[in-house]
Amino acid sequence: MMHWSLRRQSSWAQLAGHQGNFQLSSEGEVLKLHNEEEAKCLERLMRDPLRPFVPEFHGTVTRGERCYIRLEDLLSGLRKPVIMDCKMGVRTYQEEELTKAKTKDLRSDMYQRMLKIDPSTLSEEEHRQRGVTKWRYLQWRDTTSSTSTLGFRIEGIMMEDGSVQRDFRQIKTLAQVTEALLYFTRKQLDVLKAYHSRLLALSDALRNSRFFRTHEVIGSSLLFVHDPSSMASVWMIDFGKTTPVQDTIKLRHNIPWVEGSREDGYLIGLTSLITSLSQAISA
Ligand code: ATP
Ligand code: MG
Ligand code: MG
Repeated sequence: MMHWSLRRQSSWAQLAGHQGNFQLSSEGEVLKLHNEEEAKCLERLMRDPLRPFVPEFHGTVTRGERCYIRLEDLLSGLRKPVIMDCKMGVRTYQEEELTKAKTKDLRSDMYQRMLKIDPSTLSEEEHRQRGVTKWRYLQWRDTTSSTSTLGFRIEGIMMEDGSVQRDFRQIKTLAQVTEALLYFTRKQLDVLKAYHSRLLALSDALRNSRFFRTHEVIGSSLLFVHDPSSMASVWMIDFGKTTPVQDTIKLRHNIPWVEGSREDGYLIGLTSLITSLSQAISA
């Protein structure tokens, strides 16, 4: 029998999303605010070759007035987890959102954000109007990180001392990603290799996945987790914006997106990550 003091403790850490949307439950589960699309995806994923790469889904539960989905806590048992959230894909908005944003309404808040981050991107007309359409803003936003070029971006990293870094917008090249990976893993070769082979296995599973063939995967992340006492692993999380496509559309996930294609570029991001890990291993 395990001595009580050796019993594993859970250490919750959250790298994205609203804090109020999550609750920790006592049974090694994470409760995330219920979203119909996400619950449906998780149900399908439990019957798909991707299941070993997704936290176990235990259905839903109501707490007070709110309904939650019950997910395996991927940090359960880890004393000092080191984690990284990579948001996958060449865009982070759904085509549906873009279509809705195709109004003539000008948004000054979005203009101000663009002005603050990169004034050179604004046209003379936009300056004159002191506003941009949401349609314009959504597409611009993904060009300010590695999302539109490398097919993913680092959302956040938490190191073993609990410190969290969230600003990785300056990362644009694969060499910078490799540098971030070396920092995140503290150059531990076994950790880098474990991540590399996990991503290769994921790549195989994606090829055989009916779910992946039939879903536009937007805003979903790969969660990298390692700990001094355990092997490194990677998990697919966050399916709130993942939606099924019609039977007539065959998604490839490895080609650039054009409006209407529903392509998400998920595999462009996965290839970038695998290449970068290979570079980190031989660095
Ligand atoms: P956003 O859409 O802004 O990315 P969200 O509200 O959809 O956020 P998630 O991205 O699903 O939330 O999760 C937010 C964070 O919570 C993740 O980055 C991760 O740190 C943590 N997290 C989510 N699910 C789990 C899980 N099953 N086990 C452990 N940690 C998790
Ligand atoms: Mg997320
Ligand atoms: Mg989300």
